[in-house]
Amino acid sequence: MSTVIVGAGQAGVHLAATLRQEGYQERIVLIGDEPEPPYQRPPLSKAFLLGSAPEHTLHLRAESFYRDSAIELLRGERVTWIDRPGRRVRLAGGTHLAWDRLVLATGARPRPLGVPGEDLGGVLPLRNLADARALREHMASARSVVIVGGGFVGLEVAAAFASEGGEAVLLEAGDRLMGRAVTEPVSRFFARAHADRGTRIRLGAGAAEFLGRRGHVTAVRTTDGRTHPADLVVTGVGVLANSELAEWAGLAADGGILVDAALRTTDPRVHAIGDCARFPSAHHRARVRLESVQNAVDQAVHTGRLIATGEVRSYRELPWFWSDQKGLKLQIAGLPTGHDHVQLLGEPGSGRFSTLVFRGGRLVAVESVNRPADHMAARRLLASGRELAPDRAAAPGFDLKAFTA
Ligand code: FAD
Repeated sequence: MSTVIVGAGQAGVHLAATLRQEGYQERIVLIGDEPEPPYQRPPLSKAFLLGSAPEHTLHLRAESFYRDSAIELLRGERVTWIDRPGRRVRLAGGTHLAWDRLVLATGARPRPLGVPGEDLGGVLPLRNLADARALREHMASARSVVIVGGGFVGLEVAAAFASEGGEAVLLEAGDRLMGRAVTEPVSRFFARAHADRGTRIRLGAGAAEFLGRRGHVTAVRTTDGRTHPADLVVTGVGVLANSELAEWAGLAADGGILVDAALRTTDPRVHAIGDCARFPSAHHRARVRLESVQNAVDQAVHTGRLIATGEVRSYRELPWFWSDQKGLKLQIAGLPTGHDHVQLLGEPGSGRFSTLVFRGGRLVAVESVNRPADHMAARRLLASGRELAPDRAAAPGFDLKAFTA
């Protein structure tokens, strides 16, 4: 008997740890294609980029943890094939490993822009430690920086760059920042805050071409016909789920590996968790693929328990997320997507406010900017399933914490 985990990121490592905590006694093999000890990604666009978090502080577990827990960690090894009938995986070097349970925790990779010049030197994505090291090195000498994409990662890099006294241009093809993930008041607040710090935000402008000299980027031409000088370009326009291994093995995938409510793929002995998995959300009543530490960790716990105990339950954890943009802490409980009404709590002008986000008269999410108490109350409220009517939330002096107590 053995469990093989493909991907030694946030989800894979947490799954291995959960299996042992739950008393699983069989062989566990955790396979990751990156050379470093497994690490957390959030600091890559925050403290690590600013030089205030040395590499070893990023490690998810001490190296002794894997040894002491009898978790066989294979670093720098890539799984290239899943043999489902034979219940084996093949590594790039040709080695085969047997499994009774297989867990795919393969994460995601940066979505390519698909425009000319993307392969020039100085045009960098940010997904892994190697990317972050390269970005840090380039940042030290960069004079003109262009960030392509106004999502969380792009804005965190802009914040880090501004805090070092640099001035970046940030291009966002949509009409507002973080448009797929947050409500309009939050987009507007962050646009103003970043502009005040010196980042020049260009909405409705995508990258059309990267221009270069001697193999290195010198400028970005945008879809609105302008040209911005750049000796460093950071690209952050979303990710693609690493679902190919699953697809080659005949498992269903559609913008992520498809799993059922218990996070099992179309083969019940193969599970998929974290950034690579698309699952039916109990809170959103739709299939979603989420990219957050909470999602990776909670899905790992769920799957670890299922494998260790055999008990099949539906995954129902409330999604939550944070983004830290140098003194601007955004926390989201629930999923704001598809909302039709937003109620403000507090004044955006004060730098501290929350939004109550409704869909069809139901509270579906709460976004909080520098109001951590609201975030914690929102998590309790949304997880409890207790109703909050929009008119009650609109009453003068409404207090989320008091309502939840
Ligand atoms: P990953 O962490 O991506 O791990 C997957 C691993 O599998 C990778 O190491 C990959 O190389 C490996 N792999 C893939 N295919 C194979 C194969 N065939 N064989 C072997 N190994 C393979 N989330 C938040 O909640 N808050 C934040 O502030 C935040 N900030 C972020 C900042 C950055 C710069 C990034 C990139 C992400 C951030 N996230 C944040 C998202 C969060 O880090 C991810 O949601 C989380 O890492 C997902 O974990 P995972 O294990 O599913 O995937």
